[in-house]
Amino acid sequence: MAYSSLTFVMGAASPRQLPEDRGLEVAFAGRSNAGKSSALNAVAGRRALARTSKTPGRTQQINFFRLDDERRLADLPGYGFAKAPLDAKRRWAGLVEAYLRGRECLVGMVLLMDARRPLTDLDRQMVLWTVGSGAALHAVLTKADKLGRGAASRTLSLTRRELEGLGDGVTVQLFSATRGDGLDALRARLDSWLQLEAES
Ligand code: GDP
Repeated sequence: MAYSSLTFVMGAASPRQLPEDRGLEVAFAGRSNAGKSSALNAVAGRRALARTSKTPGRTQQINFFRLDDERRLADLPGYGFAKAPLDAKRRWAGLVEAYLRGRECLVGMVLLMDARRPLTDLDRQMVLWTVGSGAALHAVLTKADKLGRGAASRTLSLTRRELEGLGDGVTVQLFSATRGDGLDALRARLDSWLQLEAES
């Protein structure tokens, strides 16, 4: 399985430090605690791949994971800390906006949102930046195991209704890292963006 070979390459704390803009890149974004690390670890089939991104000092940077010479995942810094100093919030916005505006190799954005409270103001900001960048968007509603089946399917259709009107490249799915629900769908989305043959 291709994603088991993901390895941490580098972190960029400012737009100047971004790796060369070539090949195909998929970004992961979400509020802190949305379940981004758990989803990345699930994709890679590893326990601690995204621990790297939680290392103090690396939480405010874009962390790059290499799949092969032409393909990378970019783990964007989590957002939504009410108590973060204004300066840190500005730096976050400067870095992420510059990345999304200028990155030619960015083919898709996986936006992770807690299925119990999707589409906060900052999530909406992220959606707008992504759509504005021309990249496709895949919204992943995480921790679906915490909702009953009815509530999960309601939040899926509400989020779909709101996002899918934004363009052809916008899709939404439910996900649970603990149960593994939706993992195949998420990998299939990545396979298609990264032009990998789907493996069974
Ligand atoms: P991040 O800050 O977005 O990287 O979020 P983490 O992946 O570290 O997850 C935040 C918290 O939510 C942790 O306590 C995880 O164990 C928990 N969590 C993540 N994914 C799931 C899930 O699918 N189901 C449940 N029940 N908990 C989850």
